[in-house]
Amino acid sequence: MNEQSQEGALALHQRIQAGELSALEVLDNTFATIEKLDPQIEAFNCLTKDFAYKTAEEVDKAIKAGQRLPLLAGVPLALKDNIHLKGVKTTCSSKILENYVAPFNATVTNKLCEHMIPVVGKTNLDEFAMGSSTENSAFRKTKNPWDLSRVPGGSSGGSAAAVASGQTFISLGSDTGGSVRQPAALCGTVGLKPTYGLVSRYGLVAFASSLDQISPFASNVQDIAAVLQVISGADPLDSTSLQNVPPMDYLASLDKPIEGLKVGYITELLEAGLQPDTKAAIESAMKTFESLGAKVEPVSLPNLRYAIASYYIIATAEASSNLARYDGVRYGSRLNADKDILQMYLSTRAQGFGDEVKRRIMLGTFSLSSGYYEAYYGKAQKVRQLITNDFKNAFNQFDLLLGPTSPTTAFKIGEKSSDPVEMYLSDIATIPVNLAGIPAISIPCGFDQQHLPIGLQLIGPHLSEAVLLQAASAFESKTSLKNLHPQTLASV
Ligand code: GLN
Repeated sequence: MNEQSQEGALALHQRIQAGELSALEVLDNTFATIEKLDPQIEAFNCLTKDFAYKTAEEVDKAIKAGQRLPLLAGVPLALKDNIHLKGVKTTCSSKILENYVAPFNATVTNKLCEHMIPVVGKTNLDEFAMGSSTENSAFRKTKNPWDLSRVPGGSSGGSAAAVASGQTFISLGSDTGGSVRQPAALCGTVGLKPTYGLVSRYGLVAFASSLDQISPFASNVQDIAAVLQVISGADPLDSTSLQNVPPMDYLASLDKPIEGLKVGYITELLEAGLQPDTKAAIESAMKTFESLGAKVEPVSLPNLRYAIASYYIIATAEASSNLARYDGVRYGSRLNADKDILQMYLSTRAQGFGDEVKRRIMLGTFSLSSGYYEAYYGKAQKVRQLITNDFKNAFNQFDLLLGPTSPTTAFKIGEKSSDPVEMYLSDIATIPVNLAGIPAISIPCGFDQQHLPIGLQLIGPHLSEAVLLQAASAFESKTSLKNLHPQTLASV
């Protein structure tokens, strides 16, 4: 494990700023750690050493010139392989984009460049971010650093495993139905899904555009706040990005006490299906909040039980439309180019997409087809509104809501891959949040009997990131569950 990761990203940045460590040294150390650990973890699809070293040199030059560095400058970061870094492949872990090189930077990537944050590599994911275990990648199966026979969660499993194993300090993923919070929970890291529109989606390969949100991972809450500070903000290149949000200092309010905060625990999420150790850890987290002076009471969100069904109509409908562009002409690979256009189109898609992606394109195409549109897609949109209303009602009484992030801890590789519905059910606690467009954070709250990490989810109303981070930080200070890395990896 990388020694420096014990202290976290912000502390490392401060040491670079103070001249105690050079950005080059930090990067050497990071790549040495990746070379040692990643053959087992398989978090990365590719490394971007040239880009990272160029950035680190700029940092060291700025320090020599006596300049004040921008936030997080010099701290290595891993980028999910569905976010563009110009000149480097964006594969989405799909055969259809195996050789596709990004022609431009995502807006978040530009922000990382402005902040002199070295991107060290692109991380593995479920193909096109569709999945909950990273097993749907066309290239490799990322392992959970706490137990190499288990999944890291998904779809941003590579970004979660990179941070949990101490290969990088921070990483970015995308969260459409839980793809950052669920792997954060399964890997013992922190993951935040911001309010829809707070972070630009420009340059993130679209899966389900009304739900997708670029989201950070880190080993502690302070580092998450710092990354959010860097990546958030209005963007003219993303018409859904929020325009009039006053600039926030997410780090400033972290230490404020949470006395008097009203926290509602979602009764539906504590019912059947929850692993007993997870239930016990969430109940003990509720007591911790009470000991911090919060008022914790039950709240019911009756329409949550329809969330998975409506998500798998809406997300697949949007995906079927977004993925129509991979036709062998405009992007990526092209097969049977000497045959007629239909043959070329059919074979490119048949061989380029994996089973889960095809399943979703078929589902989405079906529910959007005439005759079925109102019965499925139209109805799912109405249900989405009911779920959003449930949250609104709950936030009339409570500042934040609380529940598990995932009903279980990390499962074995292969355990759920033959049963898509069973896999879909692992997102019961995260999906409602995307449907409502609100923010939520997953933080470690304990371990099960096999010493696998358990995640606690805190959910807030639109643009409540500062309060969410404050509550998460208070919980983290009280429990000392931060900068968690499996000890077994240290000796590798
Ligand atoms: N696991 C969910 C799905 O398979 C969520 C994926 C995501 O957030 N990208 O759709």
